[in-house]
Amino acid sequence: MQNKDRVFNFSAGPSMLPIEVLERVKDGITDYNGTGMSVMEMSHRSKPYEEINARAEQLLRELMNIPDDYDVIFVQGGATNQFSAVPLNIGTGSRKADYVLTGNFAKKSYQEGKRFLDAAVAASSEDRNFSYIPELAPSMFRSDADYVHICYNNTIFGTKYAAPPETGGIPLVCDMSSMILSETVDVSKFGLIYAGAQKNIGPAGVTVVIIRHDLIDRADKNCPIMLRYADQVEAKSLYNTPPCFPTYVVMEVLAYLKERGGVPAMQKINERKAAKLYDYIDGSEFYRNPVDKAARSMMNVPFVTPSKELDDAFVKGAAERGLVSLKGHRLVGGMRASIYNAMPEEGVDALIDYMREFRKKA
Ligand SMILES: *Cc1c(COP(=O)(O)O)cnc(C)c1O
Repeated sequence: MQNKDRVFNFSAGPSMLPIEVLERVKDGITDYNGTGMSVMEMSHRSKPYEEINARAEQLLRELMNIPDDYDVIFVQGGATNQFSAVPLNIGTGSRKADYVLTGNFAKKSYQEGKRFLDAAVAASSEDRNFSYIPELAPSMFRSDADYVHICYNNTIFGTKYAAPPETGGIPLVCDMSSMILSETVDVSKFGLIYAGAQKNIGPAGVTVVIIRHDLIDRADKNCPIMLRYADQVEAKSLYNTPPCFPTYVVMEVLAYLKERGGVPAMQKINERKAAKLYDYIDGSEFYRNPVDKAARSMMNVPFVTPSKELDDAFVKGAAERGLVSLKGHRLVGGMRASIYNAMPEEGVDALIDYMREFRKKA
């Protein structure tokens, strides 16, 4: 369902939310569930909010099949804060960590890691402007590393891992900001997963951390309290005032995903949406996607026309039709269509129709 006043927003983040969720949130905006107040006005120690907080966790556990020996917390500071929280919490054994550089966020995470420990680059795809995912094998990691860090889906460059790499038993830490809940993943393959909400789970302001329980209790003694996983777990994400309203919206998104059949159902739709768009690009001889086919993202699809001038005209014409935020990131140029869970299939169809028409006129 898409309200006709609304545009198809292809932004990489913050990005679209399902209209059904926005309507539900709107209905409760002044009086949540008969409490006579908005979630925005509610004490985070109140019973209704504790229920929201607990239900968000429970729904995420169900949707991602999170094993019982993993903790789930909702924290602040975005995915970027986790670039520092990870080394400070779990990089405390050998104080070595290995990073795989597959894009801008992966690189930022590595650069932040270097502030706290001996961070090494195990592999990188920077030599071809991050247009592929490097082959990885356990032998490429230092056997005494505290963790290996990867970014599963590279939002800016439009690449994605086909499967989590084998690390030979080293805890795998993964930034899933731009693909969480878009396809099934085996959480047990990871030591820690983190994701900012504003791409696939809700509004900006809340970040999900899923961490294997045996990893929570080894933080550096100087780790700031707000970054300490053990304390956030102990406090059930309520150590201080949490971002109540964003977490509430996350809960509604998760409930909506469950109603729609959960992650497997979303994956099927996402696969169909991405296949349509890539097939059209590949068959067009006008548009081009710069990424190795085996590494293509299902969420972020960068593409170019034959010239910069045509790219600019494309973006402008698209916006006039309600297809907005298609301009590519400055590091890649051209266009980028972010087609997260909340982008309806009709949005992708409308984009392809416009691409066809633009090509005919060009
Ligand atoms: C958007 C994004 C980030 C940055 O997220 P913030 O919440 O703004 O800190 C980090 N990693 C990936 C993969 C992203 O897509």
